[in-house]
Amino acid sequence: MSFQSLGLSEALLKAVSKKGYKTPSPIQQKAIPPVLEGKDVLASAQTGTGKTAGFTLPLLHILSENPKQKFRPIRALILTPTRELAAQVYANVREYSEFLNLRSAVIFGGVNQKPQAATIRQGVDILVATPGRLLDLQSQGLLSLKRIEIFVLDEADRMLDMGFLRDIQKVINSMPDKRQNLMFSATFSKDIKKLAHGILNHPVQVEATPENTTVEAITQKVYRVAKGKKTGLIIKLISEGNWKQVLVFTRTKHGANRLCEKMVKSGITAAAIHGNKSQGARTKALSGFKSGRVRVLVATDIAARGLDIPLLPHVINFELPNISEDYVHRIGRTGRAGANGQAISLVSADETSFLRNIEKLIGEKIEVEIVEGFEPDPNASTEPIKPGQNRQPRNKSRNSNSNNSGGNRNSRSRSNKNNSRRRNDRRN
Ligand code: AMP
Repeated sequence: MSFQSLGLSEALLKAVSKKGYKTPSPIQQKAIPPVLEGKDVLASAQTGTGKTAGFTLPLLHILSENPKQKFRPIRALILTPTRELAAQVYANVREYSEFLNLRSAVIFGGVNQKPQAATIRQGVDILVATPGRLLDLQSQGLLSLKRIEIFVLDEADRMLDMGFLRDIQKVINSMPDKRQNLMFSATFSKDIKKLAHGILNHPVQVEATPENTTVEAITQKVYRVAKGKKTGLIIKLISEGNWKQVLVFTRTKHGANRLCEKMVKSGITAAAIHGNKSQGARTKALSGFKSGRVRVLVATDIAARGLDIPLLPHVINFELPNISEDYVHRIGRTGRAGANGQAISLVSADETSFLRNIEKLIGEKIEVEIVEGFEPDPNASTEPIKPGQNRQPRNKSRNSNSNNSGGNRNSRSRSNKNNSRRRNDRRN
């Protein structure tokens, strides 16, 4: 299938070809036609599938077909959970609309609101926003959603995880009832289905390739290692492998900072990205990483959400996530667009049950390797760290350090899964 056959305008096809895209990704093939027909769409897709173009291209097509309105009221709203995602979606909107007479803007918190308000005052057709700043500006009378024609809720599951449900409802209440709605989510919990039911009108449901097939495209490996030797091992792997662009996940903000410092000390350029970093610091870290100035980006799960880093060759789990689905999200950042990726996990004894749960989820056993000098501690307990056991992991390992900040849970019942996720997010 080609982009031409999807019925997109010449101006959009030109922008797509300028981006170097040859064929539409599966989610684009499935989502673009119903959106162009004006239908509501519920899409199951995560970052890396090309979902942004999946909703942006038809949205731009529709807006550019209808006559421009004199004062340029906001006609399309794209709501995203994080600032980073908002910035990336906006960058995509800008690129795809290069040859169209449409104006767009992005607003998010953590930065001065004045320039954002000034841009909106001049008139924008498409607004990309995070919920907090959007409601802030709206309550000050600096923007109106009364003329919205298309509403996109991106990463709806993350929105709920981050506690944005009430904000989303407020946003919806301030838009006209007659509008087209598009909702994207990587997962479909009961809460998401309920939200979709409240927002969407007879939606067409589309799905990108199931998450598990993403895993098949990626080479996965586990290094069993003593907890206290993880830092040494990760530095060895990155240095000796001469890896140039590595995304490393840690469970906690402090863990990210500590690891980053140690990498820098050993001569590897690294930057940390997490919730305690200012917007400026996050943007700088990400742009340094993308440009190749920074070899290693150390991130917590939530900070990494929605990061647009194409063709990432290496992802390392410095610690395994306690929620198995997060493993799939993390490693989904490698091996994009057909390129080969490598996902490595450093696993200490107390993460054994996390590993088992992950293997159960992905339906395969991950190859295990042990590096000489970085062997696992045979005396370490395999009992997972429990909440409140932060500083002193209960094992006899001489090598164990205090890298864990607790809150990790191994087995969760379905009912406490969401709470557990929320706790995690707050920590990040
Ligand atoms: P997304 O899932 O929207 O975050 O997109 C993931 C990455 O895939 C981004 O770097 C896009 O620029 C890229 N991408 C999107 N659509 C295509 C396509 N049809 N062909 C190749 N790359 C694409």
